[in-house]
Amino acid sequence: MTIYDSLEAVKAELANCMKCGNCQEVCPIYIEEKKEAAVARGKIKLVEAVLKGDLEYTKGFEDKLALCLTCKACNEKCPCGVKVDKIILGTRAAIVKNRGLHPMKKMIFGTLKKPGLFNFGIKTGGKFQGLVFKKHKSLHGAYPRFPFGLDLRRIIPPLATTPLRDQVPEVVKVDNPVKRVAFFTGCTMNFIYVDAGKAVIDVLKKNNVEVVIPKDQHCCSMPIIAHGDAATAKEMAKSHVDIFSKLDVDAIITACGSCGLTFQRHYLELLEDDPEYYAKAQKVAEKIIDISDFIVKVIGLDKSKLGPLNMKVTYHDPCHLNRGMGVKSTPREVLKSIPGLELIEMKNADRCCGSAGSFSLTHYDLSMAIHKHKIEAIRATKADAVVTGCGACIMQITDGMNRFDLNLPIYHTVEILAKSYAAKEGEKEAKAVS
Ligand code: SF4
Ligand code: SF4
Repeated sequence: MTIYDSLEAVKAELANCMKCGNCQEVCPIYIEEKKEAAVARGKIKLVEAVLKGDLEYTKGFEDKLALCLTCKACNEKCPCGVKVDKIILGTRAAIVKNRGLHPMKKMIFGTLKKPGLFNFGIKTGGKFQGLVFKKHKSLHGAYPRFPFGLDLRRIIPPLATTPLRDQVPEVVKVDNPVKRVAFFTGCTMNFIYVDAGKAVIDVLKKNNVEVVIPKDQHCCSMPIIAHGDAATAKEMAKSHVDIFSKLDVDAIITACGSCGLTFQRHYLELLEDDPEYYAKAQKVAEKIIDISDFIVKVIGLDKSKLGPLNMKVTYHDPCHLNRGMGVKSTPREVLKSIPGLELIEMKNADRCCGSAGSFSLTHYDLSMAIHKHKIEAIRATKADAVVTGCGACIMQITDGMNRFDLNLPIYHTVEILAKSYAAKEGEKEAKAVS
């Protein structure tokens, strides 16, 4: 029995909580709302009440359980090691079983699990986006013209007119490869931040790594897991396990903490009671590695390939990359190794930016209240660019800069690394000409 099949399965996790309240100090939602139901301890008490039969699966219960970013700050702080996010995700699945899925979510998730339909929809959207969005004058994004489920104040990044996977071959070959890897692009790099996706491929090529980019990959299903649609998430997990387990590769590269964590942990939790798929999912999970970890820990960062970049940057830790996949030092190592680049640490760099994927869509004002602290921390560094390792965080910080009047470029770590390699190539070419 998995945590997604029955609320009974989260009982052991609930029993670990001693109700000390230490989680209050770090919970971004509690810090804004100051209500017990907003923090892990309060939610745990509500779930226990439902299990005892003292509380029904009411709309109020559903709304309170929706108030969580799954940022894992409470997991890290908890002296008892309670995996709060596991409780939250399991409970959301139980809520969907008892109350059903909202028709809009049903439609969106149904499309996400059909990659052909989803790709067609996004590609068509990319061609006609000018009709529904008006471009922002300076930031990389646009405002919605109509309130179709999006807050009119928010900046949305433009969709690529041609997705990444349509621009690159399925296998990017190099002479005498030192490794062969697969690249899970995720939706943001495929449909929005195509340059960051190209930077991943570029950096791997520069390090003599052959890259396989399966055309049939699709959304990792994290948004679906977060909203409790376990049946759809299981189907998508199985599909990815099939796609990636048949590849002859040394590693599977991700460049988004949520995607990587979904493969590393959530697929295993979803498929726990299916021995055949669980075994396959475990093998896939063992190969998952973030691009910064792969370059630093597996390939080794060759500093002789790095050219100068004269910039001051600050780095934001995405929650799922840092507390989920444990990737914290290698992005910094990459940045600090680049000649001319100064890394200025912001205050609370590992504090959630308030995005949590679709949380910023469903709870826009609260998401921005949480995000304001991030913008203040960035501003205080006086850095001239922001770097992070997740497309959803890039999207949130771009919107936050617009809301709170800051205008800085924002990059994925791998884009900075690709720029540094290009600067070195530029130096070599200049020397050859002179
Ligand atoms: S989740 Fe952990 S930190 Fe929070 S009240 Fe329970 S034991 Fe304490
Ligand atoms: S995961 Fe984050 S938002 Fe959710 S209860 Fe824990 S600290 Fe709060």
